[in-house]
Parts: sequence; structure tokens; C-alpha cells
Amino acid sequence: MFFLTASNRLKFTFNVSSGSRKALGNITGISTVSRNCTTCNSKKFAIFSDSLSSLLAINNRHLETGYVQKLITDYSQLSNSGKIIILIWIPSHIGIRGNDLADEAAKSALNLSMSALKCSATDLYTDVANHCQRLWQAEWDGCVLNKLHSVKPLLGYSNLSSLSRQDAVVLRRLRIGHTRLTHSYLLNRQDQPECSHCACALTVAHVLLECNHYNVVRQRYFNVSSLHELFDMVNAQNILGFIRDIGLYRLL
Ligand SMILES: [Zn+2]
Repeated sequence: MFFLTASNRLKFTFNVSSGSRKALGNITGISTVSRNCTTCNSKKFAIFSDSLSSLLAINNRHLETGYVQKLITDYSQLSNSGKIIILIWIPSHIGIRGNDLADEAAKSALNLSMSALKCSATDLYTDVANHCQRLWQAEWDGCVLNKLHSVKPLLGYSNLSSLSRQDAVVLRRLRIGHTRLTHSYLLNRQDQPECSHCACALTVAHVLLECNHYNVVRQRYFNVSSLHELFDMVNAQNILGFIRDIGLYRLL
């Protein structure tokens, strides 16, 4: 990051932890540079930044970010003392005169010790959530023998909000492979039911993928070879349409 005055070109560098959000680092940089304007004799300054998100946060006065609040306070004080600071977005460093100075300053900052930055807890939400997701996925990757692993090897939220409550319930039962049709025998202390068409064990996978009796109907709705492919690639309405068409919707 660098800033210019009417008569001087000055540079300022600092290094922030890689764990800090990039926008936070940029806002802090702009804030620190603007404070340095206080000690300069010049009246007019232009601060250039390639971080559009940081400049928008400042322009939109996202005061929930403590650093934006501090920057605006400093900016007001500088304005009251007769100094003019203009923030300018540069989409990239290409073709901007003097950017060799900025790039050089940025590279040299890597050798500096880390500057401690305070940040609000909300700034860390995304990083914490991503970290937990990675830990969860790593644990799930080791559970290949779990029958649900083949249905959803890549963890993540499944959005069923467009479905009715009943459709969502049916689809979730199909995804976990537990339905009244295929599993009520456990509660009733009966033998596992068989498919009435081919005498195979009646399972969700058998109905959705394997039973030849449903081949013709199945072809009208989807053509897949695994449950993962089915639930990952096929529209939920097609799966529900198939289940309705073969007359099992109310039995699940
Ligand atoms: Zn069958």
C-alpha cells in the first residue's frame, strides 16, 4: 500500500497475519496510512488501494467493523484540520505509474514481524467455519464403511427449502436409507421384507436403482448408477416423481 502527496511520494509497509481477513488487513492499512497524513505538511493526499471490498466497506460506513469506525473518526479529524484525503480504487497494479514502489514495499513487508491486529469475533466466523468443515470432512473421509458415505461423500448443506414439508421428509428418508416401508419390520419384530417383484431384500437402494420391475418408469426420471450420483445430480422432483409413479410415496 502506498500514498502520495502533492510534493512527495512516501511509502508505508506493514505485515499482518495470514489468518487475518484480507479486507481487514487492507482497511487497517488505509487507516494507518491516513494517520500518517497527520504528520505531513502537505494538505492534499491520495491513497490508492486495489481492494474494492475495503473501499466499499468504508464508503458504505460499515460501522460494525471497528477498523472502519476508527478510520472514519480519523478521517473526520483530518478533514477538520484542513487536510483532504481521497481514496482511489485501482483495479489492478498493471499500468499504474509508481507501482514498482508499491510492489517492492509489499514484498519487503513479508520480512517484517507480524503486526498485532484486533478484530471483531464476526471477522473470524468464516475462517472458524471453514476450519471446522475441513476437520469434519477429514473425519468423514475415514468413514468409507458407513453406508451414508456413499450417499454423500462430500459434506455440505443440502437445500430442500423449495420442497413441501412432506416431500422434504420423504426425500430425507430416501437419502438416509431408512423408511417405514423398508425398516418398520425392526419395530414390529418381523422378518426383513422382500421386493414383491423379484424376491430381493427390500431396500431403498433396490427400489431406486436395482429393481428391474421399475426400469421403464425409472428411465423416464433418471439414469444413474449410484445413490451418490442420484442425490447429487438428479433434481429432487424427479426422484419424488419416480417414487410417486411406482406407488410408494405414501408408504415411505
Ligand atoms: Zn425388486
